[in-house]
Amino acid sequence: MKSPKYVYLFEVADGTNKKLFGGKGAGLAEMTHMGLSVPPGFIVTTEACLQYYADKKKLPKGLMEEAQENLKIVEEKTGKVFGSPHNPLFFSVRSGAALSMPGMMDTVLNLGLNDETLEGLIQTTSDGRFAYDAYRRFIQLFGKIAMGVDEKEFDQILNKTKERCGAIEDTDLNADCLKEICEQYFGLVKKKTGHSFPEDPMLQLKLAIEAVFKSWMGKRAVDYRKEFNITPEMAHGTAVNVCRMVFGNMGFDSATGVAFTRDPGTGENILYGEYLVNAQGEDVVAGIRTPKQIQEMKKEMPKIYRELERVRKILEEHFREVQDFEFTVEKGILYILQTRNGKMNAQAIVRTSREMVSEKLVSKEEAVLRLKPHELEQLLHKRIDPNFKGKPIAVGLPASPGAASGKAIFDADEAERVGKLGQKVILVREETKPEDIHGFFASQGILTTRGGKTSHAAVVARGMGKPCVSGCEQLRIDPKERAATMGNVHIKEGDFITIDGSRGEVYLGEVPTVDPEISKDLLTLLSWADEIRTMGVRANADTPEAAERARQLGAEGIGLCRTERMFNAVDRLPIVREMILAGSKEKRSEAIAKLLPVQKSDCKEIFRAMKGLPVTVRLLDPPLHEFLPSAEELASKLRNLQEVESAFSSMENISEAMKLLDPAFRESLKLLDHMVADIVEIKEKRLDKKLIRKQQETLRKVQEMKEVNPMLGHRGVRLGITYPEIYRMQIQAIMEATAELIKEGLDIQPEIMVPQVCTAQELKWVYELMKKVQKEVERQYGIEICFKFGTMIEVVRACMRAGRLAEVADFFSFGTNDLTQATFSFSREDAENKFLPLYNQRKILQDNPFEVLDVKGVGRLMMIAIEWGRRTKPDLKIGICGEHGGHPESVEFCHSIGLSYVSCSVPRLPIARLAAAHAKLKEKEKKPPEKYDPDQTFSIFF
Ligand code: ADP
Ligand code: MG
Ligand code: MG
Repeated sequence: MKSPKYVYLFEVADGTNKKLFGGKGAGLAEMTHMGLSVPPGFIVTTEACLQYYADKKKLPKGLMEEAQENLKIVEEKTGKVFGSPHNPLFFSVRSGAALSMPGMMDTVLNLGLNDETLEGLIQTTSDGRFAYDAYRRFIQLFGKIAMGVDEKEFDQILNKTKERCGAIEDTDLNADCLKEICEQYFGLVKKKTGHSFPEDPMLQLKLAIEAVFKSWMGKRAVDYRKEFNITPEMAHGTAVNVCRMVFGNMGFDSATGVAFTRDPGTGENILYGEYLVNAQGEDVVAGIRTPKQIQEMKKEMPKIYRELERVRKILEEHFREVQDFEFTVEKGILYILQTRNGKMNAQAIVRTSREMVSEKLVSKEEAVLRLKPHELEQLLHKRIDPNFKGKPIAVGLPASPGAASGKAIFDADEAERVGKLGQKVILVREETKPEDIHGFFASQGILTTRGGKTSHAAVVARGMGKPCVSGCEQLRIDPKERAATMGNVHIKEGDFITIDGSRGEVYLGEVPTVDPEISKDLLTLLSWADEIRTMGVRANADTPEAAERARQLGAEGIGLCRTERMFNAVDRLPIVREMILAGSKEKRSEAIAKLLPVQKSDCKEIFRAMKGLPVTVRLLDPPLHEFLPSAEELASKLRNLQEVESAFSSMENISEAMKLLDPAFRESLKLLDHMVADIVEIKEKRLDKKLIRKQQETLRKVQEMKEVNPMLGHRGVRLGITYPEIYRMQIQAIMEATAELIKEGLDIQPEIMVPQVCTAQELKWVYELMKKVQKEVERQYGIEICFKFGTMIEVVRACMRAGRLAEVADFFSFGTNDLTQATFSFSREDAENKFLPLYNQRKILQDNPFEVLDVKGVGRLMMIAIEWGRRTKPDLKIGICGEHGGHPESVEFCHSIGLSYVSCSVPRLPIARLAAAHAKLKEKEKKPPEKYDPDQTFSIFF
C-alpha cells in the first residue's frame, strides 16, 4: 500500500481543509493562493500527527524524505540554501490544529542556525548583533521546546548578562554580550540534558517537528481542550507549518506586529493592532516590551501602513469575517504570517456583524449566526456604577470589557486555590503565560502590568469573556512580597480590588456595578433574529416593573407569573399568615377577603404593563409553610418570652425584698421602684401570658404543618383542592382584573395555569371551579371574559397523561425545574451541593441538568407529552417556563421538538431570542431528535 502524502507546499494545500492542514496551515495556503505576500513553506498534515501517536511516537516512514523534497522547492524559490554557510535559509516550525488554541502549543523560530550558518547570516546581513540575537533566541526556544530545558534557567542567564552589560532592554545588548549568552546557553543545555545542542539543520527540523507533535498531548493543550470541550471531531492532532523565516529584527526598517481588520474591542471599522520596530516573533504577544499602536505606523512606516490597509481589505473581502493577522516587515518588505477569524468581544461582534450587512459583505442570516448566544451574555455583563465618584488608583489598557471585583492574587496557583474556596479573585501579574491558564479559570478578572491589547492575558480573557486590564505600567508588582504598589498606595495579597476592563481602570476595594444597556446595533441584530425565528419568546415576570422591562427586551408575553411572589411583599405577608393559620373556615375567609383586592390590583398592573400581550398567571404553588416562620425560629422566640416572664417574677420578689433596705438607699433606687410598678401592671393585665400563648399556638400550627418532604407534599393543585377558598380567590382576582380593564377599553389576554397537576381529574376540578367564578364575575360586570386555561407539565405522570390533560387544557407549559427533579429523582439543592460536581467531574453526567436541559431523559418525556397532547388537541399551545428556557442549547432543542414558545427570566430574553433564531437557521442541517430512541440503539416502545 502506498503511504499517504504527509507534506504539502502552501501552493498546493487546500486552504479550506482545516481538518487536514490545521487552521494556521489552511490560512497560509489560502493567503498564498490569494497572492498575498506569505513566506514560502510547507505543511505536515494532522494525519501525520495521528500516525505519529499510532506508531508509539515515531515519525511516519517517508515523512522526512517528503519534507526534504518540499524543502528543495522552497530553496529554489528563495535562492537560499538550508544549512549553507554562505546564503543560509532558516525556518519557523509552527504548530496549528483545526481549532485555534492560542499559545497552547509550541513554535520554534530561527531553525537552521548553527555556528556555520550563523557566519552566513552575519555575512548576508553584515549585522553581527542581529545574528547573535537570532541565535540566542533559537537556542532558548529549541532548548525549551525540543530538549525540555526550563525556560527560567535561560532567563536567569539573560538577566545576569544584561545586568553585567548595563543593558535595560534586550535591544541594548551588543553582539559580544549576545555571543556570551549563546555560549552559556550551550553549556546549560549540555548540563541539563547530557547532550550537545544539535548542529545538523535537518536533525533540528526533525526534532522540532516531533516537538510540535508532542505538544499536542502536552498538559497545557490537553487542559485547554478539556476546558473548552474541544472533541476529536473538532480538532484531531496538530499540523506542523514549516515556513521560511523572515526577520523583523533586522534593524529599524524591520518590524513585527499583530493586527485586526477591525477593532476587536469596539468593532469600529479601522485597522487595529500593535507593532514593535526591530523585534521578532513573540515579543509583541508575550508583552516583553509594550508595543506601539498601529496608527503610529502611518508616520513611522507610511508605505507599509498603506500596504496593511490593502491587505485588510483583501482579507475581509475573501473571508467575509473580521481577521486577526500576524505580519513581519523584513528590511522594508511586508510578509503576512498568519490569519484567522478574529476573536472579538460581543460588543464588537454585534457592531461588525451589523455593519458588514450594510456593506453587503454578509447576509442578515449570517450576521445573526455570527453572534453566539453564549457570547451575547458578555453584553449582559456588569460595568461600574456611573454614580460612583471614586477615582481609579491606576489606569492601564482596556483589554477585555466588563467590571469585576475580587481579592488581588499574585500567581495562578494561589488564584486557583482561593477560587476553589468560592472566593472572588483578580489575578494580578506582570504578564501572563499559557501556563497560567488555570489561574484564569479561577479568576473574575485579570490585571497585568505589561503587554498590550493583543498580549496573552488580553486574548485569553477576551476569549473567556472575563474583564482584563493589561499594560498597567504605573503599578509595580513585587512577586516576592506578594504585593503591588502605586505611589503610596499598597495592595497586599488578599486585598479587594475592582477592575474595569472597558476603560482600563483599577480601583481599590469593591466598587458598585450596574447592568449594561443594550446598544442600537444589538437591537437591530435582535430584530433580525425576531424576523428569522418561528418560536415565540416570553418572560417569567412577577411584578409590573419586571413586566415592563420584559416588554422592552422583546418579550411577546409573560409565560410565568408566580402569584406567590405577590404574597411575599412585606405588607401582604401578615395577611397571608392570617389566612394560613386561621382556625376556622370563617376566619380563613376573612383573611382571604383582604387578599382579594391586593391580588386583583397586582394583576391589573401587570396586564396593563404588557399592553395586550398574553400573561400566564399561575395559581399558588409552593407549600404554605414557606410563608411561615420556621419552627426553630418560633421556639427560640418562645424561650426568650418565657425568660422574660420568669425575670418579671423575680422582679416582683425584689420589690418585696427592697422594703427591707435602708430608706435612704431606697431613695437612690427610685428608678427600680418605677420599673417594678410597670411590671406589676403588665402582670396584672396578663399581657405576657397572652403573648406566650399566641406564640405557642403559632408554633403548634407550624409543627402541625411540617412535612417530611414539602417539595413532594401539600403544594400546588393539591393545596388548591384542599383549600378551595384560596384558588377561588385567585381566579376571582384574575377575572375581575380582566373585566375591569376590558371596561377601560383595553385588550387583555389572561391565561390561568395550574401547577403540579398529575391527573386530569385535578385539572377538571379546577376547571369547574373556574367556570363557576367566571359566571359570577361575568354576571357582576355584565361582560364576557375570554381567557385560556392550562396546566404546568412538571410531574412525570402528567407527561404520560398528556392526552387526557389536553382535553381540558388550552395550553401546556413545561416546568422543567421540577420535571428535571422528578425525572432524575434528584432534589436540586442536595444534588448541586453534594454530588453533582463530582458527577460532572467524573463525566457520569455531562452537564448540570438543572442548567442544561437533559434532552435524553427530560427531553424525551417532553416529546411524548407534546405528541400525545397534540393528538388530542392539534392546536395545543406548548411552552416551557423552567430556567432552561433561557439556556441557548436548550432553547434550540425546544425549537426542534416544536414548542410554541420559551419563557425565560427577563435578563435572558435577548439570549433566548437569538438562540431561537439560531435554531431556525440550523434546522436544515440538523435532523430533528429521535423521539423514543435517544441513543438510536433499541426502541422500548415499538
Ligand atoms: P501562535 O500559534 O502561538 O500564534 P505562531 O506559530 O504564529 O504561534 O508563531 C509565534 C510567532 O512567531 C508569531 O507571532 C510570528 O510573529 C513569529 N513567526 C512565526 N513564523 C515566522 C516566520 N516564518 N518568520 C518570522 N516570524 C515568524
Ligand atoms: Mg500566531
Ligand atoms: Mg414548579
